[in-house]
Amino acid sequence: MWQAEVRVDLDAIRDNVARLRSGTSAELMAVVKADGYGHGMVPAARAALDAGADWLGVCTLDEALGLRRAGITAPVLAWLLSPGLPLHEGVTAGVDLGAASLSQLDEMIEASRLAGRPARLHLKIDTGLSRGGATVADWPTLLEAAAKAQADGLVEVVGVWSHFVYADLPGHPTTDRQLAVFHEGLAMVERAGLRPRYRHLANSAATLTRPDTHFDLVRPGIATYGLSPIAGERFGLRPAMTARARVMLTKRVPEGTGVSYGHTYLTEREANLAVVPLGYADGVPRHASNVGPVQLGGVRRTISGRVCMDQFVLDCGDDPVAAGDVATLFGDGADGGPTADDWAEAAGTINYEIVTRFGGSRVPRVYD
Ligand code: PLP
Repeated sequence: MWQAEVRVDLDAIRDNVARLRSGTSAELMAVVKADGYGHGMVPAARAALDAGADWLGVCTLDEALGLRRAGITAPVLAWLLSPGLPLHEGVTAGVDLGAASLSQLDEMIEASRLAGRPARLHLKIDTGLSRGGATVADWPTLLEAAAKAQADGLVEVVGVWSHFVYADLPGHPTTDRQLAVFHEGLAMVERAGLRPRYRHLANSAATLTRPDTHFDLVRPGIATYGLSPIAGERFGLRPAMTARARVMLTKRVPEGTGVSYGHTYLTEREANLAVVPLGYADGVPRHASNVGPVQLGGVRRTISGRVCMDQFVLDCGDDPVAAGDVATLFGDGADGGPTADDWAEAAGTINYEIVTRFGGSRVPRVYD
């Protein structure tokens, strides 16, 4: 018998990847960083590869090595690499590395020496996000150094890439500006004598709405898991994660009863309360206090009072609720129940954060 669980429907991941894959002639990198956005990095990666993903994308070297330890041999790109990491382990494991500065390039050259084979690099240009990526001003110097290192057999430049700011707002002019900067960056790549096999730019939103940004490889993350990057659009995707728990305790209380810490909720009349054993330690945002939607007994209800570390309370009025009944926080919404999008709206965040919060929490994850 389970108390709380996060169910992950791997068929949904497979369907989503197949749908994304069929919408492009580019190769597809399923982004499985952050424990597969909370869905489990290795099972999500395997499902994505089954359905036709060509690549896997992660942030950290540890994530990339974790994929290799699990026996996954598909191409992997890791791109969040602080100084001093044992990058040679990545090179030895055949992990491609994102490089955005001369000092990163130097570390990767050293890693190649240690590994006894050239590191495979994807040079990242900052087209406007001001996050990872070399600025346009630094781009020629990075290209020149990378071209020399490649000519010396120390590295192999496999990719050139960037990341969007506003692809989730279709029609935003920044996306066109970034695309233009990317094209300029590609022209400089060619002038530097580099011919990388992969040019890549598109996240989920651009994969779904901007075929002119697909180039050789698309990098969808959130859409892999069936969630839309664009508010109000579903794109036929199937949400893969369901979060639910069994009611721990019910009780009848009089009108005017204060509920949970701070008594921010008072019952308006005599009511049945249901105590649900999930809290912010499990991934339920505390910002969902008094607003988070939960399906219980076929009825959509709202969390009553504050979300605690391990539990929250639902005022069920006169509805007959019993310990052991299943309360669904979010799922695919097919039965009219709440979705991760509903939770994101209620808690003032994005669906990415809702699902990712449940990864690595103490709630057991089970796979369908
Ligand atoms: N590419 C990079 C560099 C990212 O950091 C991410 C995620 O943040 C993605 C692709 C996938 O983005 P999304 O989940 O919006 O598809």
